Amino acid sequence: MIEIDPARRAELAARLDVVRERIAQACASAGRSAEEVTLVVVTKFFPAADVAALVELGVTEVGENRHQEAEAKAAELAAVGIRPRWHFIGGLQSNKAGAVARYADVVESVDRAKLLAPLARGATREVEVLLQVSLDPPGSDHRSGVAPADLAALAEQAAATAGLRLRGLMAVAPLGEDPAAAFARLARIRADLLAVHPEATVLSAGMSGDLEHAVAHGATHVRVGSAVLGSRPAVK
Ligand SMILES: *Cc1c(COP(=O)(O)O)cnc(C)c1O
Repeated sequence: MIEIDPARRAELAARLDVVRERIAQACASAGRSAEEVTLVVVTKFFPAADVAALVELGVTEVGENRHQEAEAKAAELAAVGIRPRWHFIGGLQSNKAGAVARYADVVESVDRAKLLAPLARGATREVEVLLQVSLDPPGSDHRSGVAPADLAALAEQAAATAGLRLRGLMAVAPLGEDPAAAFARLARIRADLLAVHPEATVLSAGMSGDLEHAVAHGATHVRVGSAVLGSRPAVK
């Protein structure tokens, strides 16, 4: 059994309500239906008990960015019959990709072709993939994400990989740039992708601080951590 502290559960419930309301408001402002946007709660650094509480509160999708932590949490919860859909959203090494594909339902951070074969080999059922596109200015040494110019080639390879299902794009607004401008750029990149891959309808964009801008620019999934769970412990 996983013990859920009632006070913590109440705290998560209250924050979850606020985030759900923000999403509903953002959808209303954008003339979209609230059902068009799925909340992925990012539980990195927080214990499996928090995930269990969130699932009780109706959360169906959770995101993690570190393989070892994600694998351990997914196993601990599966052992007691708790199986949310796991989104892997972190930097991915090709030697870990196969292991990630064994528990992740969605791998959001695919940013190079080298990851595709190992992901497909590790997949025990069809794994959904999102291509992480960089919104950093061209020429900057962007941290993660495929450059927009290289996206079409990567999408073609992902779509052609058996065992993987190309679902769409993921992006993070660059620090220091107006998120509205970054997400407007993302919307154009997405339109180009959809013209060739009409099945790639998912757009994962927007976090605690900028989800409204992402919803305004077509996000179908928002990845929210601290606004639901509270601030994360400092990175060791
Ligand atoms: C941590 C993380 C988030 C959530 O960030 P918050 O600001 O806590 O909402 C979203 N996306 C990615 C890729 C992350 O690593």
